[in-house]
Amino acid sequence: MKTPFPPLELPTRLLHGPGPSPVAPSVLEALAKPCIGHMDPEFMRAMNEIREMLQAVFETENEMTLACSGTGSAGAEMLADNLVEPGDKCVVCVNGVFGGRFAEKCRRAGGEVQTLNATWGEAFDQDALVDLVGELKPKVMMIVHAETSTGVHQPIDKLGEAVHQNGGLLLVDCVTSLCGVPVKIDEWQIDGAYSGTQKCLSCPPGLAPVTLSERAMHKVNNRKHPVNSWYLDLTLVGNYWSGSRAYHHTAPVNMNYGLHEALRLILEEGLMKRFERHRNAHELLKVQLEERGIEYASDPLNSLPQLNLVKVPERLKDEAAARRALLEEHHIEIGGGLGELAGKCWRIGLMGHGAREENVGKIVEALDAVAPV
Ligand SMILES: *Cc1c(COP(=O)(O)O)cnc(C)c1O
Repeated sequence: MKTPFPPLELPTRLLHGPGPSPVAPSVLEALAKPCIGHMDPEFMRAMNEIREMLQAVFETENEMTLACSGTGSAGAEMLADNLVEPGDKCVVCVNGVFGGRFAEKCRRAGGEVQTLNATWGEAFDQDALVDLVGELKPKVMMIVHAETSTGVHQPIDKLGEAVHQNGGLLLVDCVTSLCGVPVKIDEWQIDGAYSGTQKCLSCPPGLAPVTLSERAMHKVNNRKHPVNSWYLDLTLVGNYWSGSRAYHHTAPVNMNYGLHEALRLILEEGLMKRFERHRNAHELLKVQLEERGIEYASDPLNSLPQLNLVKVPERLKDEAAARRALLEEHHIEIGGGLGELAGKCWRIGLMGHGAREENVGKIVEALDAVAPV
């Protein structure tokens, strides 16, 4: 029978917002490989390789490293649900959207949450945070490494040691940082980190890479209360990823193929080269935008190469219309401001496969058309 629904026909867009980012053709091909069973030994082999490659990009030897089903937010929830016990003192740093969301996840997991707040667009002073950790002695401390809502690149290398000296765990949101700027889980003594496939890994949204230290797993294994979420219970999910391989939920098989290929491309390029490529694309964009009177709005000393927070040029009367024209006439997506920055700022992503000179050229050319000087 003929349906009134023809197959989807989709435009090709250049994705330069806050995510998803451009996906390499070989990743799309990997997604289209034949679906096999989630208990098939060949799939188990792919999972093992994914774990090994995730350990390489997280720069960790953590055994508990896996791809959580769901987007970056699922990874955040996996950490909050498993590492926060009712009554735990949680200190969450908030200087944008994503810290605020993590605070809410900790509250829902039963934590006693205290937020530390900084102006949106500014990084926290790490030394001041180290002093506060000594005073507050949190069981769980959380900070966002790359705040996608503001473009802030947060220094975090000294926090782990301070949190450990006071008997707590350090959790970090690495959704936008992983594979765009260095993330050194072991060297920085981070106990739990989560990311997402759709930012600098350049794979479509659908999986959340997660890694936990032995210290963090000790807490998970000695919980007094069962984890509230059954789906995200690390003991159950972890058994499927390494231990007994017991069925828990069906892994998103083809998404894992996509992640496998995305990670393979990253390691083939080399992390250092990849970080350099992000920096170069960012510097080129910055020069070209500033030549056109478009100013940066993020902390100048702590700004991310992969997420460029810029002020909407004053000459533009309707910023939403300009973004719509970029999308519809030029097939380029950029992001609007989020939360407090809505209507005032744009977020131009140069993530993963999209962090290239030719993409910068296309973005600037299209901006010249929709927001002429
Ligand atoms: C995108 C993002 C998230 C959420 O990821 P989803 O894939 O949208 O669930 C969390 N934290 C940061 C910093 C992000 O950029």
